[in-house]
Amino acid sequence: MKSITVISGKGGTGKTTLTAGFAAVAALPSSPFQKLLERRENIVLADCDVDAADLHLLLQPEIKSEHYFEGGKLAYIDPEKCIACGKCVEMCRFDAISDDFVVSPIDCEGCNVCAYVCPVDAITLNIRESGKWFISDTRFGPMVHARLAAGQGNSGRLVSLVRERVEKIALEQNLEYVLIDGPPGIGCPVIAAISGTDLVLIVTEPTLSAMHDMERILGLAEHFQVPAIVCINKYDINLNNTREIERFLWENKITLADKIPFDLAMVRALTEAKTIVEYAPRKRIALIVENIWRKIIDELR
Ligand code: SF4
Ligand code: SF4
Repeated sequence: MKSITVISGKGGTGKTTLTAGFAAVAALPSSPFQKLLERRENIVLADCDVDAADLHLLLQPEIKSEHYFEGGKLAYIDPEKCIACGKCVEMCRFDAISDDFVVSPIDCEGCNVCAYVCPVDAITLNIRESGKWFISDTRFGPMVHARLAAGQGNSGRLVSLVRERVEKIALEQNLEYVLIDGPPGIGCPVIAAISGTDLVLIVTEPTLSAMHDMERILGLAEHFQVPAIVCINKYDINLNNTREIERFLWENKITLADKIPFDLAMVRALTEAKTIVEYAPRKRIALIVENIWRKIIDELR
């Protein structure tokens, strides 16, 4: 089993669209490319963008099982026991307790300080439901995805849980590849999504912010000793910046998987909830997506 994380640093670079395209290329037996090449890979998908999951919009999974994610603790004040001394309000550095001694579930970080200082043991810390995770079937293979509840932290832990489950499915079903749609940013959830994987594909675009993010993720991947390759999406919207990215990759000996032009077919495919490979299998852009997937497989082998 090999795992690949597709990541971009910022949203809107086409990361999820490409991930779904790779899944189609890998898994669709009806794809003309597969027929041509007589190749097909068994994959399992993971959507690790748990704060704003959207891979399901394209893959329309059929949910097979649903589970609660217990992401932390929430203080509860028993009004029967409380003597209104105010110590908990004074000591809570997250301002999570109101003047009439009610805990805000949005602000409480479950640190336990209030329970510690309460002179009458009126406060208990309870496990809180911070989201849900799902095991589903898609037209390209099984998928594990999750949804963090509004205002909840702990997305790094939920990403780790999704990774753990998806790898279990891959082992149980003897699937070759785990394809992970990674979260944005470079924080804890991203670290959870890339650490221990076999390859990171960074999707960038020729804008200054995306280029900056690409460099930061490359640094992160290097730190965690995960090989990384790059593809440039919508490369023709700024050819100067594209040349700049290519120069940077060449100087740093990083593989450029391919360059993808801007194509309205990609947008039209999205509006029909299809991958580009299903929507326009003979278009050049679909062939480029196929080519990038082949490069990923080559890198892994
Ligand atoms: S557990 Fe911590 S954050 Fe939550 S109310 Fe108590 S002191 Fe405040
Ligand atoms: S510390 Fe305990 S007794 Fe005092 S206000 Fe808070 S809950 Fe009530």
